Parts: sequence; structure tokens; C-alpha cells
Amino acid sequence: MTNIIIFWHRRDLRVSDNIGLSQAYQKSSKLVGLFCLDSNLLNRDDIAPARVNYMLGCLQHLQKSYQKLGSQLLIFQGEPTKIIPKVADALNVDCVFWNNDVEPYSKERDKQVKEALEEKSIQSKTYWDQLLHAPGEILTKSNNDPYKVYTPFWRSWVKEEKADIVESIEKLESLSDEEINTVKDLGLIDLPTAKDLGYSWDAPLLLEPGETAAKEQLNYFSDNAIYSYQEQRNLPAIDATSKLSPAFKFGIIGIREVWQATVEAYENTRSDEARENIQTWQQEIAWREFYQHCLYFFPELAEGPYRDEFKEFPWDNNEQHFQAWCEGKTGYPIVDAAMRQLNETGWMHNRCRMIVASFLTKDLIINWQWGEKYFMQKLIDGDLSANNGGWQWSASSGMDPKPLRIFNPASQAQKYDPDGEYIRLWVPEISSLDTECLVTGKIPPLEAHSCGYPQPIVDHKQQQREFKERYKRIKN
Ligand code: FAD
Repeated sequence: MTNIIIFWHRRDLRVSDNIGLSQAYQKSSKLVGLFCLDSNLLNRDDIAPARVNYMLGCLQHLQKSYQKLGSQLLIFQGEPTKIIPKVADALNVDCVFWNNDVEPYSKERDKQVKEALEEKSIQSKTYWDQLLHAPGEILTKSNNDPYKVYTPFWRSWVKEEKADIVESIEKLESLSDEEINTVKDLGLIDLPTAKDLGYSWDAPLLLEPGETAAKEQLNYFSDNAIYSYQEQRNLPAIDATSKLSPAFKFGIIGIREVWQATVEAYENTRSDEARENIQTWQQEIAWREFYQHCLYFFPELAEGPYRDEFKEFPWDNNEQHFQAWCEGKTGYPIVDAAMRQLNETGWMHNRCRMIVASFLTKDLIINWQWGEKYFMQKLIDGDLSANNGGWQWSASSGMDPKPLRIFNPASQAQKYDPDGEYIRLWVPEISSLDTECLVTGKIPPLEAHSCGYPQPIVDHKQQQREFKERYKRIKN
């Protein structure tokens, strides 16, 4: 009889270019996939309906991939620390394989699963798959410490050799009917819909779920927009970024495959300019890795500000201002356009994420953690390390050495949405106004009133001064 192996999927909902899965396959072809809808995560109050929808769509595709290979993806709902050892024990499996994650909760959960398996004399094997370089591979030359600043991290990171795409799985052996009945008795479920889980999302998703769509998107991007990425990535009215973030979040595409696509794009051109554009996109991949390394080594980042002076910062935390920001009704057109894009699509352009984060923290003087949570409640790509990193960067509370970074919404709009195209799309009630009004935000009160658009809820200059004064006080 062939020994059964379980591969526990978490944020690697694919069968290709998957290190842990490929290692498991080398051990036995009687391999079954398992996904547990983790009740500890589903019960949190920062879950975005768009994200749940995308994840479930990806799981549906993953089930089909397993069927095609001749095996099954088993779905359970509950506490992985109880479910994984119970199923492994009942199926008498040899070993449970999975890929590691950097989040504090995942690290603790995995430790408990490992221990529970050990108690039942079941082996577990874990791998680093979601990063080109695992935490600990990129350390400072001087002290072997984790980097706290991005630029030197990037310089070290880019020099290191990147792994090749992992070999594909060809054929798997299925569980017997008797084994299937065993897992049914343990609570095997059909894949629920988002509605079954209490989330409703009817708008189109940024990216179609599943490996095929993610690969197509990667190919499309690396054949086209990657060559002009550096020049256009900051223009929210233009479709110039990869829109692969949900695929990265759930591991729908292998990171080695992504890297390979950038290398091929680089080789396909002789233009130095085009190559610079490609390298700028590679730098974004490195930002993702940088924030994951930071969270792995400094898990306290998830709990609050990294810099001491921000631990007691006297935030205003005005609830009405926060509500206006959430709804895109601040009277600052670029901020409102971005928040409405988020609310309506579950995604926001990166430039706009920086603008609204600066506005919340520096203009409304509201604790960045409120914004961090709101983003998690809405984003299809909501990811602890990238989101926390982005918010701490914008709030100036993180590891970034620059003391204060304050964005002026008007200058940002003038520079990055010069024709007001993005603003017109998302704030239609003011779309007929002059571009100058839209980008400067200086809309005559009567005109704003007749469009049903609010007056600015705060004055940027005054708030900027106020923020700086408070910052000076806490620093001293
Ligand atoms: P592209 O421009 O095509 O970039 C490719 C990939 O690189 C992205 O998909 C992403 O995985 C990674 N990446 C790019 N920029 C960053 C960055 N600054 N930090 C980390 N990774 C990056 N990204 C998330 O994936 N999840 C989040 O929850 C998230 N929250 C953010 C919050 C704030 C306040 C800010 C300023 C940024 C946040 N980002 C987050 C980073 C960035 O905005 C998104 O990754 C990007 O907009 C996704 O679009 P894209 O896939 O088209 O990106």
C-alpha cells in the first residue's frame, strides 16, 4: 500500500511552481491537498468581502487542478491545530507538508500543529516558497542582522541568485472510497460560497480567480506595461501596473515564475530605458519581500508603531472625520476618488494608497492603525506585512529613516492626475468642473454645493503645521 501524504495549502493556492507541494510529491504520489477555512481568521473583524470571494474562487480552481491530476483537495472549516492532526491521524499519513509564512499568527499556529502531529508520531516538513529569499537569507554584511532600511536590502537582495521554477506535478493517486468516507466523518465540507460565510460581494473582481488567469495576467503585463512601468506606475488613471497583488497574496502564482518573466522581459529588449523600467518592477517585488522579512524578524510591527515617539502620539481621532475619509467625502477630490475606488472595487492604486494614508494621518491626525484596519476590511489584496509596512511608512512611525513625510493632496493630484481623469471617474458629481478645480481641490463653495460635493473638512496647511508641532513636542 502506498503511504498517504497531506499537503496543507494556506497562501499557496496553486499546483505549479510550489516548493512544498513538489517536495511532497517526491515522497509519494498518493498525495491529497487540504485547505482549512481557519475559524480564527474568518472570525476577525478585518476581513474584506472581495478578498474572501477571490480566495474561494481560487480554491474552486485548485479543486479542479487536483481533480485533473487524479486526486482531491479536501476542505474543512475550524481550527487547523485540531483538524490537521485529526485528519492526518485518521488517514494514517506518513507526513504533512506545508509552506511557511511570516505572520505572527501563522508562525504560532504552525508550531502548535507541528507539536500536535509529533504527539501522534506523524512527521511534518515545511519549506519557504512565497519569497525568492527566505527570512535570514538577506542579512547585513557587518553584523548579520536583518535589514531595517529598504535600499541596502534591495542592493543585497538583487545580487543573490534566484531559484528556478519548480518542476510540475504530473499525476497523483486518489484516496480510496473508504478513505474518503473516513474524512467525511471528520467534517469534510463542500466549498462554501462567500454568502455562506456571511460576506457579500457582487462587483467584478480585480483579477479573475485561479492560476490560469494569474499566469495570463503576468504574461500580458510582462509583454506590455512592464516596459513602461517606471514612467507610468504613478498615474492612477492609466492601467500601468500588474494588478497581480491578489495573486501574490494567496500564492496563485509562483514567485520564481514571476521572476523568470522579468528576466525574459529583460532579455527581450536591448533598450537601457526599457530595462530600467523592468528593474523598477523588480524593486516592487523586493519591497514585498522586505516587508515580509521585517514582519518575520520584528513581529511587534503588527501591534503598533515601530518608532517609540509614535507610541504616545496625541492623535485627534475625530470619528466624523474618519467616517468622511472612509466614504470618500472629505472635500479633497483626489482623496475621495481613491477611497471610492477602494470601496467600489476592493483595490486602490499604489500612489493613491500613499496619498490617502498621508491624508488620514497628517491632515486628519487620525491614528494610522484605524486606516490600516479599514484597508484590511476592503482590500482584495489585504496583506498584513505589505499593509502594515505601507501604513507605517506613510505615518512615519515605521523603520523608514525619513522623519516626516507629508503629502500635499493638491500637488499630488496636479502631478499624477494632471487632467483630472481619475478624479472624474470616481467622483462623477464634480466631473463637469474645470480640471484646475479638480486637481487643486479649490472648488467654489456654490459650485460644490450645487454638485452635492462637500467643502474640505480640514485645511491642509493648518493641519500640516499642527501635525509638525505635535511631532516636535513628542520628539522633545
Ligand atoms: P505592481 O505595481 O504591479 O507591483 C507588483 C507587486 O509588487 C504587487 O502586486 C505587490 O505584491 C508588490 N508591491 C508593490 N508595491 C509594494 C509595496 N509598496 N509594498 C509591498 N509590496 C509591494 N500591497 C498589498 O499587496 N497588500 C496590501 O494590503 C497593501 N497595503 C498597502 C497600504 C498602503 C498604505 C500602501 C502605501 C501600500 C500598500 N500596498 C499593499 C502596496 C501596493 O500599494 C500594492 O501592492 C499595489 O498597489 C498592488 O497593485 P499591483 O499588483 O498592480 O502592483
